[in-house]
Amino acid sequence: MKDSDRYFYHPLENIEDVDFFNEALERKKLTKSIQPDRPYTYWTIELYDQKDGIRGGGGLGVLAADTLRVADDNNVPFALITPFYPSETHQKMVNGQFEDEHRPVNYLDFGFRLIDQVNIKCCGNLCHLDVIEKRFKSARIIAITEPNFGELYSGLSGGDHRLYQEVSLGFGGYAALKLLGLKPAIMQLNEVATFFAALARLDELVKNGMDFYEAVVYTRKHTLYTNHTLVQAAEAEFSYEQFERFVFPNVKSLAVKKWLKDKFEDGKIKLSSVTIEIAELRSGVSKLHARVANYHDIAGNRVKFKAITNGVDLRTWVLPEILAFYQKEQILDEHLLPLPDYQTKLEPLTADEIRNFKLLGRKLLNHTLLDYPDQHGQILQFGDSDFIFDFRRRFVDYKRPDLPFTDPARLRSILEKANAHFILTGRVHTGDNIMSEKLHKILDLVEHDDFLKTHVHYLPDYEEKLALGLSCGCNAAINVPIVGLEACGTSWMKDVANLSLLISTHDGGVADASSNSYLNVSGETTADELDMLYQRMEEAIDIWQSDFDLEDTIKTELKAYLPVVSGTRMLNEYLDYLFPL
Ligand SMILES: *Cc1c(COP(=O)(O)O)cnc(C)c1O
Repeated sequence: MKDSDRYFYHPLENIEDVDFFNEALERKKLTKSIQPDRPYTYWTIELYDQKDGIRGGGGLGVLAADTLRVADDNNVPFALITPFYPSETHQKMVNGQFEDEHRPVNYLDFGFRLIDQVNIKCCGNLCHLDVIEKRFKSARIIAITEPNFGELYSGLSGGDHRLYQEVSLGFGGYAALKLLGLKPAIMQLNEVATFFAALARLDELVKNGMDFYEAVVYTRKHTLYTNHTLVQAAEAEFSYEQFERFVFPNVKSLAVKKWLKDKFEDGKIKLSSVTIEIAELRSGVSKLHARVANYHDIAGNRVKFKAITNGVDLRTWVLPEILAFYQKEQILDEHLLPLPDYQTKLEPLTADEIRNFKLLGRKLLNHTLLDYPDQHGQILQFGDSDFIFDFRRRFVDYKRPDLPFTDPARLRSILEKANAHFILTGRVHTGDNIMSEKLHKILDLVEHDDFLKTHVHYLPDYEEKLALGLSCGCNAAINVPIVGLEACGTSWMKDVANLSLLISTHDGGVADASSNSYLNVSGETTADELDMLYQRMEEAIDIWQSDFDLEDTIKTELKAYLPVVSGTRMLNEYLDYLFPL
């Protein structure tokens, strides 16, 4: 095993097998609702869990994997149902151009076992889907796959292949549960691509003799729709004709078919509109997002979302030494929840300790970088005293990866003064020509500046291991989405938990706490925001030089955000919402 792997997949042997959740379950009489054969079911088209052979696209998949790990750590009976994509894309740079490399993946290499096959009907054919399973302690992954299943998000978002994948997950996944003798205690739909799972359940209830309206009420009460998108308008639509080929043939009840057919408007359907109909429980992924998400039901009423801010699995995402510190100092308890007096317990943390932890993080980063050459194909290694900024996230417009490069001369002067580095990483969506062009522009301007050329580094194939290495080993993280467009974001959570300075706009989950909690970037205009971003970068470098400022800034961040970033806190909030006393 490589050293970077050792860190990434650090073993779970230090977990005590405490019955915390069993106690909590008892307290809430949850034992009746959730049991090994009646698990919490979590449906997701994307899972980002590389050690189990499943590579996602971004935050949605990372969240799914973290939820699974937290549930398993806390002994919650949990089944995550997702596709297993037999091929995955990696991004390479060849002669300054991006190339997608498609790699086959075999589930047998990742500890899955084949259970059986289930069938769905598509375009007049019977399609055979393999049901595979991987079990953990109390959680398991149930995956649906077949050799031609394709890649995650392949084809257009309103296209036939996507619909095929979504229908396979929904109907195939529901059939898989039955095959395994499982009944869902609750169905959490991670975004609307998983709608068909709830439809399959509704159909089965009616087919088994339940009155249609009763079945609707029952399904609604046991389905949670978790929304991650801000505007309904941006969602792709499917046509009636596509449903005739892929969906209706799988619906057995005429009443359910009619119910679904009535939801079409001008021959088109948005899955969010029917997901809202079939799920009475609805959540958004940060306080701000739940407030501003602009969704309407079919009657035209604004949909209310319960705010449950995303968290991360701290065991996965925090440098083991820092995690041990949190636990030893009783800042976090054995379930990785902050203890009531965690703020007081943070007080003794010194600048020396912070710097030492970041040096350990720097070692991990250097190990990690051995596997991730930069834009020139070079392996980067950093010294202990190098100051590093990092920007790492999917290359999408609203996250503004290009913002720091708006004024190259100013960026250069900031970096030059401290001999600091800037690491940029994030994949461009295949086919996103606008962002691809923006990235090439950045790389071009960097290439033509002697200083930036050696101090701005782009790492092409952004993925989990790189995310961990960078959040542990960099000094300051930059997160500057256009305010109002980030639903939550979890990258910044990894940075905060690993004692990086956070430079951010007040958006997504960052806005769960006050804007004084981190190095805030704001302004009336983009130019104002840009000016403030550069000021904050200068400030971050200065803070690192001063013991007092470093202690104060890092403690303020941790005091504000440790509860927010805890994945256990998130799972608790879901359980409280789904199974009220
Ligand atoms: C944490 C993580 C994300 C989450 O990104 P956000 O932009 O913060 O939502 C995406 N991709 C990878 C590989 C990650 O590790």
